[in-house]
Amino acid sequence: MKKIVLLLLFPIFFSCCNDCSKHTTPNIILLIGDGMGLSQISASMYANGNKSALEEFTTIGLVKTHAADNLVTDSASSATAMASGEKTNNGTLGINATNDTLTSILEIFEAKNYRSALLSTATITHATPAAFYAKVLSRGEYETIASQLSNHDVDIFVGGGKKHFDQRSDSINILEKMSKKYDIVNDLQSFIDSKNPNIGYFIAEESPIPVSKGRTPSLGAITKATLDKFRNPEKQPFFMMIEGAQIDWGGHANDTDYIVSEFKDFNGAVKEALAYAKRNTNTLVIVTADHETGGFAFDGESIEAMKGSFTTLKHTATMVPVFAYGPSSKKFSGIMDNTDIFLKMKEVFDYHNE
Ligand code: MG
Ligand code: ZN
Repeated sequence: MKKIVLLLLFPIFFSCCNDCSKHTTPNIILLIGDGMGLSQISASMYANGNKSALEEFTTIGLVKTHAADNLVTDSASSATAMASGEKTNNGTLGINATNDTLTSILEIFEAKNYRSALLSTATITHATPAAFYAKVLSRGEYETIASQLSNHDVDIFVGGGKKHFDQRSDSINILEKMSKKYDIVNDLQSFIDSKNPNIGYFIAEESPIPVSKGRTPSLGAITKATLDKFRNPEKQPFFMMIEGAQIDWGGHANDTDYIVSEFKDFNGAVKEALAYAKRNTNTLVIVTADHETGGFAFDGESIEAMKGSFTTLKHTATMVPVFAYGPSSKKFSGIMDNTDIFLKMKEVFDYHNE
């Protein structure tokens, strides 16, 4: 009897080829803590009851962040390097230092019918999210960037900056045109309730306020709601970039409490991404930063007495950490360049799509 059962099961065990994992196209969730250096992480972890979701990551590396034209990068140059694999000049989005237009990882994935999402606690036209869809020489061209988003294929976007779409200097309300494809919503419940595969969710007319001043919903809640939408029956893989934008703004303000509160909000998104990756094992989660901000350090006799100090109001050139979890996460160990974040994601993609 036992022999018969084994013989019957035989074709099931061996019907798959040698490398079954190749057929499971992975989801990629890239989380960027803007300005999140090692001291920002350390101080926030201690202030968070000595805990951070980052401690669950199995692979850790370090990232060199310099720009093409400067040792110290800005968010546009570094996000372009991570999104598209080439160094560029500070201030530039989606175009390299010799003026070639670049293709972002989000665009590469979309061409293969992946779903995509960009979530940020800054405006959606701000440098970090914009690096994944915009091609402009100056990151300050917010209305041009908004127009480029309206002509793009990003499925879901969440962030502030609605005014760059509907209160423009050219008097064109580009949300009217976008509404043919997107549900444009302004609150989390409408975002959750929408059945449209394309949604633009504005969390602010202008720049979103700090979480300590009442910014809601949390980045964790937005992340969870977006991941719930991607848990679809057709099992279409997805690429998602989630930015904790204001850790950087805390650094620029030389304000330890601002850094810590924004890191805690970002940590909530990391937690949701990890929980999803544990349930859906074909999901690669990468957490990194574009650069460090403030030259931040801290000391004190206890967490309560923690005292931050800063060497600058700007960014610094120190390496930033990268954390990875899930399939192919081991690629992200060691010291790498920010362009390698793109190259490694592309390698994962190519392996499954050759
Ligand atoms: Mg940013
Ligand atoms: Zn900055």
